[in-house]
Amino acid sequence: MAGVADYSIATLGSHSALQILRGAKDEGFKTIAVCRSDHAFIYRHFGVADEIIEIKSYDEFHKVEDDLIRRNAILIPHASLIAYVPPKVIEDLRVLHYGNRRILFWEADRERQRIWLERAGLNLPRVFRSPSEIDCFAIVKFYGARGGQGYFLVKNEQEFWQKIERVGELREYTIQEYIVGIPVYIHYFYSVIRGELEIMGFDRRYESNADGIGRIPAEDQGRIDVTYTIVGNFPLMLRESLLPEVFRMGERVVRVSREICSPGIWGPFCLETVVTPDLKFYVFEISARIVAGTNVFMETSPYALIKHGKPMSTGRRIALEIREAIEQGRLKEILG
Ligand code: AMP
Ligand code: AMP
Repeated sequence: MAGVADYSIATLGSHSALQILRGAKDEGFKTIAVCRSDHAFIYRHFGVADEIIEIKSYDEFHKVEDDLIRRNAILIPHASLIAYVPPKVIEDLRVLHYGNRRILFWEADRERQRIWLERAGLNLPRVFRSPSEIDCFAIVKFYGARGGQGYFLVKNEQEFWQKIERVGELREYTIQEYIVGIPVYIHYFYSVIRGELEIMGFDRRYESNADGIGRIPAEDQGRIDVTYTIVGNFPLMLRESLLPEVFRMGERVVRVSREICSPGIWGPFCLETVVTPDLKFYVFEISARIVAGTNVFMETSPYALIKHGKPMSTGRRIALEIREAIEQGRLKEILG
């Protein structure tokens, strides 16, 4: 019977790699970081990777695939992989891949995301199909995992055309109703092996310059173009009476994923929400893999500690799932 010693856990050196690799080590796996040469020293410094494979740029990722296959590596995807490795390369990967790879393409396409989340019965911000429809405060977002960079706010069509002109290169965008409330990022983990959804924790983001705007006088704030470049994350504990709704939302997302992209979503995922004063969750995005906000619980979140009776990060939870799958001869069920 195969065991953890027969496999390695591999990921790209960025985003949540420290957490993923540290968690894999905690569960007894050998670990591999595929790093850009100029980032490799970080992974050496923290000692989370038994092996570091260096590439000059992310474009070269496909060149190391055979090295990973030789080491029986299981690749863990995250946003940097999606942001920097072309979709075609991800689609054609031959290395063992944790999670349903096809669901990543649902994440990448905002139209598909919307179909998924609407079918799951979640509250979504309205979408304006054309700038002429803008009838309230709206946020203009660009496609791709670029971490909120360049997003902007508009009140009407005229302001939209003024601001889009400044963007320069024309990129695909979507216009969403801007929900005034507080952002809450919900970290879930669906275990195929245990057949159960878990809440791993919550974070809020620290975004530049949106989170800095309150630091200058109100009369000067209007001169600043607000945008949402992600810089870091804070941990968050949610009001406990909101947990039932949080669970129900996650369960519906998993159920619908099986209809739209069989066999569905599993492992870590995140609903990105804004909670309004009437305690409604508006879901503006789904991430169908580990989110970097889970890094705030690199050791554990209180919820994961209570559930597992020992410290458990999302990175470690992934490795635990893989270990249990290997030990039960069920690895195939969690690869995709
Ligand atoms: P990076 O490797 O840091 O350039 O990140 C690649 C992409 O991952 C970014 O464009 C973001 O979409 C996402 N990302 C990275 N770090 C974070 C974070 N701390 N919180 C949310 N998203 C992140
Ligand atoms: P996203 O790329 O969809 O994760 O959005 C980046 C950031 O923009 C989020 O972290 C929020 O701060 C903000 N944001 C996105 N959509 C909305 C929305 N509909 N209402 C309010 N804030 C939003």
